[in-house]
Amino acid sequence: MTFDHDLKASVRTIPDYPKPGIMFRDITTLLADARAFRRAVDELVHPWAGNKIDKVAGMEARGFILGGAVAHQLSAGFVPIRKKGKLPHTTVRIAYSLEYGIDEMEMHVDAVAPGERVILVDDLIATGGTAEGAVKLLRQIGANVMAACFIIDLPELGGAAKLRAMDVPVRTLMTFE
Ligand code: 5GP
Repeated sequence: MTFDHDLKASVRTIPDYPKPGIMFRDITTLLADARAFRRAVDELVHPWAGNKIDKVAGMEARGFILGGAVAHQLSAGFVPIRKKGKLPHTTVRIAYSLEYGIDEMEMHVDAVAPGERVILVDDLIATGGTAEGAVKLLRQIGANVMAACFIIDLPELGGAAKLRAMDVPVRTLMTFE
């Protein structure tokens, strides 16, 4: 893990959002800062330079912004994982638990070919429910999930440990307690 004070300073904390007692880590301030955005994408891509990655999968919605940039840098394809009902073609679907409730996510059934090397990207891992669901969807259609990458880890919520227990290497750039 890279502990970067500049990058960390570009994340804004919003107390009591979306509910009282939640400290929301807002990455829109990081995205709006050209140096920080470039730095974050470079750091996420770094371990994969020279490694063939076929697809980058990103979770709606902030995972699209980061995943698109990471895919471009790796010359990989991009696969959107979306909340149910948003994708037009035949999908695979899974229920997953969020920090704030339960939802279902979907991916196009033909988004990844069996055996393709995929990395998963999102802005933040908390309980790991979202990422766990995404890994299960990807594996269901035969993807080889190489790693999951996040800007922010909330280690007290155990998400990164949950993914590692599923044999998914996890890379995060900073932690918040
Ligand atoms: P998890 O499923 O790991 O509990 O929650 C992670 C998901 O919820 C991610 O898709 C992430 O975007 C969103 N999320 C939860 N808490 C926060 C937060 O404090 N800041 C941001 N930016 N996203 C959050």
